Parts: sequence; C-alpha cells; structure tokens
Amino acid sequence: MENFQDKISEVVIRRLSDYLRCLNYAKSKGQTLIKSSDISTECGLKSSIIRKDLARFGIFGMKGKGYNIDELIKEIEKILGLNKTKNVVLIGAGNLGTAIIKYQGIKNANFNFVAAFDNNSDKIGKMIDNTKIYSNERLNGFIKKNRIEIVLLTVPSSETIKIVDSLDPKFVKGILNFTSVILPPEKNNIFIHNIDLAKELEVISYCMKKCLS
Ligand code: ATP
Repeated sequence: MENFQDKISEVVIRRLSDYLRCLNYAKSKGQTLIKSSDISTECGLKSSIIRKDLARFGIFGMKGKGYNIDELIKEIEKILGLNKTKNVVLIGAGNLGTAIIKYQGIKNANFNFVAAFDNNSDKIGKMIDNTKIYSNERLNGFIKKNRIEIVLLTVPSSETIKIVDSLDPKFVKGILNFTSVILPPEKNNIFIHNIDLAKELEVISYCMKKCLS
C-alpha cells in the first residue's frame, strides 16, 4: 500500500541528504541549534524550501531559535532509513569498483562494506584496502549468510542483467548500478538506482550550453 512517504519525490529525499551533511558539519563545530537560514547558506537553497521539506515530515523549528540539531539529525536519519546499519557488497572489482571501495567518503556508520566479488581468478583472494575480493561463485551464499541488503554493481555492461537477475530479493533490497545499462527503478522487487557518470557530464554540458548561449 502506498503511504504518504512514497509520494515524496526523489528530489526532496536528495535534499534531506544534503541537510544531513550540513547538520553533521554544524554539530562537529559544537553547534546545538540551527536556523533554516543557516542550512540555506550551506546548501544553497531557499530557507522556505528547507522549512517546507521538513514540515512535510511534521518537523518544525522553534520560533526564533530554529531546529535542535541532534533531534533533526535523528529525524532525518529515520526518514532515510539510516537508523539501522546496512551490509553492502560490490560486484566487479575493476578500476571503478576499486576506486569506490577505496573512497573513504562512502564509508560511514550506516553502511558496512563487507566484501567485493569478481570472476577474474587473478583478483580473487586479493584485498582492496580492508575489503577482500571473493569469487562470484560464492556470491549468493555470502549474501544469505551475511544478510547483504545493498549491492554496488561495477561489472561490464554485458554482465549487468545476468547479475541483477541472479540476486536473491529475499536479502538484496537495493542496487546501485554504475554500469551504463539503464535499469528500471525496480526489478524483481529490488530497488535500483542508476548512476552513470557519462550521463552526468552530458547534463552539465547541456546546462553550460544553455547558460552560455
Ligand atoms: P580491469 O581491466 O582491471 O578488469 P576494468 O574496470 O577495465 O578493470 P571491466 O571490464 O569494466 O574492467 O570489468 C570490471 C570488473 O568486473 C573486472 O574486475 C572484471 O573482472 C569484473 N567482472 C566481469 N564480469 C564479471 C562477472 N560476471 N561477475 C563479477 N565480476 C565480473
């Protein structure tokens, strides 16, 4: 059944993610309260949009004081489903996969990077930082045993569909698809998010053309 939150657009969810970063930064500086105008300066969004986004979830600031940072972080984490750590694996330990595993910015308390998988026997058993590369043959057993909920896909495009169809939706609930194959937002009851860096370049190219013409 569709509930209120299902109707919230992805754009709003992305903004909540931005607010969370901004709040954590303010907290790290020792701040306890924050006004929407401060979030606005950090995120480059109008204060009215921020207040409206938060009000959609029943979150309101205190008049003249703003929001309590700790409480707001807790609320946004709950909305984003970050109040429970999720186990993650990566499939395809090539150049992009290796870069993602090495990237510290993706590692935080909410996502536990458990392992990488590959079908190249030269890579199996090797480590990328603290992450071990396992054979693809062990994938489904591993997913079941370690309760893996999210898969990052960095295999060649030709392998994408085959791998997605092999994942057990009883355990895997989300896929971040970095291949150039465009997958639907949901397949086999698994949520999919496509991340295509080439596409992002095309979008920025369009924006530049529009601005400069
Ligand atoms: P490299 O040249 O080191 O393999 P790459 O990023 O250029 O890196 P790609 O051809 O894009 O290589 O493949 C990405 C990774 O996916 C490689 O490590 C490859 O061995 C792995 N791979 C290919 N097919 C599969 C598969 N079916 N299952 C798991 N991993 C796979």
